[in-house]
Amino acid sequence: MTINSILEKTKNVRVVAVSKYVGIGEIQALSKYGFTEFGENKVQDLARKCEALRGQNLSWHFIGTLQSNKINLLLRQKPILWQSCNSLALAKAVNQRLSYTLDTLIEVNSANEASKSGLNADEAVDAYLQIQQECRNLRLCGVMSIGAHSENELEIAKSFEKTHKIYENLQKHGAKLCSMGMSGDFELAIKCGANMVRLGSVLFGALKNGV
Ligand SMILES: *Cc1c(COP(=O)(O)O)cnc(C)c1O
Repeated sequence: MTINSILEKTKNVRVVAVSKYVGIGEIQALSKYGFTEFGENKVQDLARKCEALRGQNLSWHFIGTLQSNKINLLLRQKPILWQSCNSLALAKAVNQRLSYTLDTLIEVNSANEASKSGLNADEAVDAYLQIQQECRNLRLCGVMSIGAHSENELEIAKSFEKTHKIYENLQKHGAKLCSMGMSGDFELAIKCGANMVRLGSVLFGALKNGV
């Protein structure tokens, strides 16, 4: 895929460029194509890249597992969105350390895979409402999910549809973002209602190959 074809396919959704595999140079190169939102799954990497690129009008998403000893380092970077809030306990720990309002998504493990973190689909709505009520420094904005780890497109679609259902249920409680779809399945995710996709390898691969 080329950058232009990715831009065309994602023209109606928000794209987060996942830069976890690349360095500062590639991030700067990609930003020339108009990408301004970047995502990292390790707090130290986010902090390092965010600091190195300060002043360039980029914003940062945290999409990984958050260990409690990294919370302060993350919050110092003022990420635009924390996409991977996966428990009430973690939400409370972050809430307690916040001195500003942090936009946050709950991570849902819609495929119910043991290898994945995230709230189970059947507990997601209740957890969302409880976090909303108890964590006043978090502004819950919706849901994030990773599609089923499968070769079977139907299985993947099923997991996206499940996440999208949860998102729809939460819209009356202020949810606006449905973040799902990565390099291998973003077109399917968009068909299933994603309005935010997180693209790493497909995007930086395209960058290497030119427009
Ligand atoms: C790495 C990662 C992505 C991007 O993965 P690609 O397959 O390279 O597009 C998206 N979301 C999360 C949570 C990730 O960890």
